[in-house]
Amino acid sequence: MSSASCIFCKIIKGEIPSLRLIETKYTYSFLDIQPTADYHCLVIPKFHGAKLHNVPDEYLADILPVVKKLTTVLGLDTNNTPDGEGYNILQNNGRIAHQVVDHVHFHLIPKTSDSTGLGVGWPAQETDFDKLNKLHAELKEKLAKYDKL
Ligand code: AMP
Ligand code: ZN
Repeated sequence: MSSASCIFCKIIKGEIPSLRLIETKYTYSFLDIQPTADYHCLVIPKFHGAKLHNVPDEYLADILPVVKKLTTVLGLDTNNTPDGEGYNILQNNGRIAHQVVDHVHFHLIPKTSDSTGLGVGWPAQETDFDKLNKLHAELKEKLAKYDKL
């Protein structure tokens, strides 16, 4: 499925240029043209869906292996310690969640310094087990119904 007005669908079809990387039957990847760090990549399904839940599973199942291959190509897979160079995988859904292009995309962003790559705001709440237990009970009910669907 494709959208005539979508910039990423146009990239997949070759109607507008991109700095292409790995391509498979389900997935296309290319360099972000306004990178937050060198080698900032985008990995997208060859299916037009605005948000993650709009994309069929077979497309989603193909995406992370492509992201993983790119980590190897970029040499990001050599550091198996917690310290030093790392990377972030980011996938935004909706304006409030910082999504600008309404075609699902996974950012692969090398993190080599504090001043480049992804900066994260993380408004962690104090641990509140009363609240967590309520939310958990609510979710378990929903999951039980979901499993019956
Ligand atoms: P998001 O905020 O998650 O929707 O990110 C959209 C990303 O797409 C941004 O990082 C943009 O720099 C990138 N982008 C937009 N247009 C293009 C394009 N034509 N080629 C490559 N990257 C693009
Ligand atoms: Zn699209």
